Amino acid sequence: MPEAPDLQVILEFLEPRLTGRVVTGAREVKPLVLRNLTGKPFGDDIAGRTVEKIRRHGKLLFFDLSDDRLLLINPMLTGGLRYTDPSEKILATTHVIIDFEGDRQLRYFDQKKMGMVYYLRPEQVNDTPRVDEQGPDVLDEPMSLEDFRTALRPFRGEIKGILTRGRLVSGVGNAYADEILHAAMIFPYKKRTRLTDEEVERLHEATYDVPRSALKVLRNEIGDAIHKKVRSFLAVHRKGGQSCPRCGYTISAITANKRETNFCRKCQPGILVNN
Ligand SMILES: [Zn+2]
Repeated sequence: MPEAPDLQVILEFLEPRLTGRVVTGAREVKPLVLRNLTGKPFGDDIAGRTVEKIRRHGKLLFFDLSDDRLLLINPMLTGGLRYTDPSEKILATTHVIIDFEGDRQLRYFDQKKMGMVYYLRPEQVNDTPRVDEQGPDVLDEPMSLEDFRTALRPFRGEIKGILTRGRLVSGVGNAYADEILHAAMIFPYKKRTRLTDEEVERLHEATYDVPRSALKVLRNEIGDAIHKKVRSFLAVHRKGGQSCPRCGYTISAITANKRETNFCRKCQPGILVNN
């Protein structure tokens, strides 16, 4: 679920509340999500450490803790965070609970146990999957058009897959890839090698504009409900059968490789096979 704009809102919410705070305890409520690489008992080892900094890169959230510890959260498709009072009911999807001084809790939940919460030493970070494969964050200072063209060149295959892989830019998932390609008026299954110069130019603009606009909306919509998933304002993602906001044509929904792609056949024309 969380892509760069979603996770950025979560980061902005947690930063002033948890930076400088001491962890008073933690526990694994359900197995599989927590990966403790320290060789020490999680709850005992994390207690007493201070949150020094909270960072985000792409779809990953990093909590730098005092005395050589790092908590790395990769929510994948189904994970999320809840910031709450300890007295609040613990939902069945909760996997990890971290207690903070001042009677606050951070809970990691996951409907399908797809995400991962790593507890490790900072130097172990490259032992975790995906971390060293990430390109520049999509919300960082945009690449120039020329640099973008150059960065795009080594990639083969369909453009949507290139956007979501994280190497060109980090933080774009299924939802924002659909949105970016709709804004850029590019057929999602078009091969990178078939993109025209104009299409690359539109892709460059949309890749940086769409997540930034979304971030502004999400800041208002989410507020302190960081566990909430807000997607209703998107143009095409999960809107199959509805009308394209640009041209009014019916939005398509195609499922391939277990994920749904939404696009407008009129604004984003293309042929599915041999495109
Ligand atoms: Zn359209």
